[in-house]
Amino acid sequence: MAYKTINPYNNELVKTYPDATAEEIEEALANGHALYKKWRDEPVTSRAATLHKIADLLREHEDELAKIATIDMGKLFNESKGEVELCAIIADYFADNGADLLKPTPINSRNTGDAQVYHQATGVLMMVEPWNFPYYQIMRVFAPNFMVGNPMLLKHASNTPASAAAFEKIVEEAGAPKGTFKNLFASYDQVSDIIADSRVQGVALTGSKRGGQSVAQTAGKYLKKNSMELGGSDAFVVLSDADVDKAVDLAWRVRIYNAGQVCTSDKRFIVADNLYDEFLEKLKDNFSKLVPGDPMDPKTTLAPMNSKRAKEKLQGQIDKAVENGATVYYGNQPIDLPGQFIQPTILTNVEKDNPEFYDEFFGPVAQVFKVHSDQEAIDLANDSELGLGGIVVSSDAQHGKSVAEKIETGMVFVNSFLVSLPELPFGGVKGSGYGRELSNLGLNAFTNEKLIVTAQEPDWNNPAGGLAVFKD
Ligand code: NAP
Repeated sequence: MAYKTINPYNNELVKTYPDATAEEIEEALANGHALYKKWRDEPVTSRAATLHKIADLLREHEDELAKIATIDMGKLFNESKGEVELCAIIADYFADNGADLLKPTPINSRNTGDAQVYHQATGVLMMVEPWNFPYYQIMRVFAPNFMVGNPMLLKHASNTPASAAAFEKIVEEAGAPKGTFKNLFASYDQVSDIIADSRVQGVALTGSKRGGQSVAQTAGKYLKKNSMELGGSDAFVVLSDADVDKAVDLAWRVRIYNAGQVCTSDKRFIVADNLYDEFLEKLKDNFSKLVPGDPMDPKTTLAPMNSKRAKEKLQGQIDKAVENGATVYYGNQPIDLPGQFIQPTILTNVEKDNPEFYDEFFGPVAQVFKVHSDQEAIDLANDSELGLGGIVVSSDAQHGKSVAEKIETGMVFVNSFLVSLPELPFGGVKGSGYGRELSNLGLNAFTNEKLIVTAQEPDWNNPAGGLAVFKD
């Protein structure tokens, strides 16, 4: 049984879950496909009330759901509550705006007919999601596609099964029809078989490069549309005119939120030389005040990492970086608690020939770099195989924006932390994947952009296509 909850705060095995059976998968596919055909004949607006109900239920069960997520993967209880609220906001947004956003788009065409692009459902989707935001990652795909009319199957991370089951229960309780959403405790091979099935029309994955490459390969083999939301090693650029206190105030929160396990959490801090020493000192000061402990306890400010495996991987990366010349400016000491804690750590002198230079540190580790000009900051920010997000800090917002425009990622925020909201597109470029979730772009990630041209009679004067030559 691969799916189990092990509380990363105390290592207690809370519950194991039975693997998905072939019959269960076939039933999920059949139900999803039947629902897709039914939904095709129903207006988009008919689904809005159920999505609002899902938002209501999320809010009603916020504490219970938050506790489930915290026990599954260790994040601070208050952060889990914030995640549940964000899911409700996303559901409400697509319930309110989905139908409008999905209205056919008229096209100004030289053809005499009326040309419109319809945004129609395509069929059952497979989603593969990670543990770091166990509800939000599902909701990013669920809410838009529910409005579109694409039924969904989920393969969640093997360490957050309770959160997956809880999400499914909310959808059921809201009265969504059978086939809307089915959580499957599926193996990798079963995921491949599902993608290959002709009833499945798309795959959305959020996760690592390893998982993304494997799932995208299968999707490519069977010509299934797919979106990939992968890792990030985003830059946090502090320009020479920045207020260093404001910069640090953002920096430590961004790096420590969710124990540093956020794809868009900036991992490389690129600081102008005039502010570098002060920035480092103040970042260290903030890191040193963090209190590790029970993530259910409101006094705790440093959560454990999500699993033993994740902690060991991150520790290995720190060790390797240091063996190859990086300096530990702060941290990297053991924490005397049984859970999967890593002391917040600041690394400097991570040079380009360090094998960890291009790696994503998925936990509370900040690499800090000194630069001597805006151009050097931009070049270093772009010297990455990944391109998800980023932050630029400057006392002059326009100056910050001009630097943001030159950063090769999918999202950059100036003088703000990177927020995810339903109306803002989310996604990256380069090794961070392709496609966008949320917003109008995410809503149309798995639609059929279907052209319908309606004319009373053929436009014989239209030179394109050549058919006019056969006219008597
Ligand atoms: P991961 O190993 O790729 O796992 C993510 C999901 O993919 C899990 O459900 C995992 O299942 C599944 N999976 C992995 N390989 C698979 C395969 N060959 N076939 C089918 N399913 C497969 O990712 P992770 O390391 O746990 O998550 C952290 C990564 O996700 C980081 O790189 C982070 O930056 C990235 N991330 C990106 C975003 C974004 O929106 N761009 C958001 C959050 C996280 P198992 O659990 O069973 O292995």
